[in-house]
Amino acid sequence: MKALRTEVKRRLFQVAAAVGFNADFLSAARGNISQVPTKGICLPALNCYSCPAAAGACPVGALQNALSSLRYNLASGQKKIGLYVAGSLGIMGVAGGRLPCGWLCPFGLFQEIIYKIPLPKIKIPRILTHLRYLILSLFVILLPFIIVDDSGLGWPWFCKWICPAGTLEAGIFLALLNPAIRNQLGWLFAWKTALLILFLLWMAVSQRPFCRTVCPLGTILGFFNRWSFFRMKVKNEDCIVCDACYRVCPVEIRIYQNPDSSSCIRCLKCEQVCPTTCISHGFWLPEESTAEIKTGCSHS
Ligand code: SF4
Ligand code: SF4
Repeated sequence: MKALRTEVKRRLFQVAAAVGFNADFLSAARGNISQVPTKGICLPALNCYSCPAAAGACPVGALQNALSSLRYNLASGQKKIGLYVAGSLGIMGVAGGRLPCGWLCPFGLFQEIIYKIPLPKIKIPRILTHLRYLILSLFVILLPFIIVDDSGLGWPWFCKWICPAGTLEAGIFLALLNPAIRNQLGWLFAWKTALLILFLLWMAVSQRPFCRTVCPLGTILGFFNRWSFFRMKVKNEDCIVCDACYRVCPVEIRIYQNPDSSSCIRCLKCEQVCPTTCISHGFWLPEESTAEIKTGCSHS
């Protein structure tokens, strides 16, 4: 019963965030990209800036924009070096690590819904989960910074070539709503639509494949899982290694091996099913939490 309550609560958070992050319905109805005053604020989730209804900025897009204009800004003596984006990501990470992935991200919710389609399910090979580090470092950080045009400006490579959330929330919606945009679609849109279809098929058979193998925001927030105020704890002396937690985990990890895993999206499903109630969550100072985990952990 408690597990159901937590899951209902999580679903309500996810739906409220999806609606709240995309609340400019008037722009959406007009087929224009929203320009509300909150548009400059980084949202704590992957939510495409170009979605017609988006009421805030996607931190991954904002990070690429900051890096792609960094050289131009420095060369022209401007002091805009993306500190706001870095600070926003730092605050999110320090507060909750990947908590927003499990409780707020609209694209995470979307993947969970697609996974409910009754089809045979397959696990994601662990090696593929390391791909996200390559995507973050190459498409989000290095390419936007290194490759620039004659004026010194780069491109948001991840948004342009990869992001299926952008294709779904922005590309397809804008194409449907705005005839002028529809007429300009070319092979890049075809490529991104094909990629989105591949992800949709993958989402139907595997749990959260985008979050686990690609998402740059989840990767950045995952670095903070070890140090964030919101943490998971496991009293390992009470753990009977029954793997009930592993069987419900959407990212297929064994939390008793590493409660600070950078893959954990803090969904709390494991906590709800643990027969010995040795899993808990809460806000702790990093030193306090680390001490407990070190003394409690006995399984590797
Ligand atoms: S469900 Fe609880 S007791 Fe079972 S393996 Fe996971 S942490 Fe240990
Ligand atoms: S370890 Fe627990 S809290 Fe983390 S993702 Fe898996 S089920 Fe959710």
